Amino acid sequence: MPTSNSSHLSHTRNKLAGSNARTVWGSYCECVRTLITDHPLIAHKLTALRDESTDSPTFRRLADELVTLLAYEATRDIRVTPVTVQTPVAPAQGVHLSSPTPVVIPILRAGLGMLEGMTRLLPTAEVGFLGMVRDHDTLQPSTYADRIPGELKGRHVFLLDPMLATGGTLISAIELMLDRGADQITAICLLSAPEGIAALEAALEGRKVNVTLVTAAVDEKLNEKGYIVPGLGDAGDRLFGVV
Ligand code: URA
Repeated sequence: MPTSNSSHLSHTRNKLAGSNARTVWGSYCECVRTLITDHPLIAHKLTALRDESTDSPTFRRLADELVTLLAYEATRDIRVTPVTVQTPVAPAQGVHLSSPTPVVIPILRAGLGMLEGMTRLLPTAEVGFLGMVRDHDTLQPSTYADRIPGELKGRHVFLLDPMLATGGTLISAIELMLDRGADQITAICLLSAPEGIAALEAALEGRKVNVTLVTAAVDEKLNEKGYIVPGLGDAGDRLFGVV
């Protein structure tokens, strides 16, 4: 079992390079499942998002649509309870979402641009907010806003963050959810870097946790400033402008 981040990284790269499946499930350590969706509509919208000539209103609309498509995959394991309903013709067996309802948590600020696309599919979900900022020099995240239920036991938590770059922010957010008792965590990221996936796997390796990452694509690498290459630039700036 590799133990260092670099061996996690090379494993992640090999795993991705070796796969030509349309939708790729990867699992290096048992604690993180990674789903890389590969759907022409998703690829089409992602390409337009990457394009530097795409303006903010179009970027916001595309991100919103992309999240809804990813949310469809991300909710595959959502908990449901069997129910019987009466149709005009006869009783029918079906399901409804189990209680307690899922919690959707965008990581501010860029995750806000993913909220509506997610709650469109899960309108009954509770919404929490987590404000995290990454220091531009050290790339270390710190929390500046926490509006999340104190107790998450039995809840399915969906974390929204468009860019999985170094992984620092997402790992801190996941640790917070685990501390509050979340036993099922799904992170939805529009784009991921192999370095971020490797860091996430290394951080959770050997722990009995249930974490899934759903992403539209895994890019080549991070650059020296921690940006995903080729990526799409600063997701927060492209969604909301430079403020
Ligand atoms: N955050 C962004 O917005 N873009 C990146 O490329 C990396 C982190």
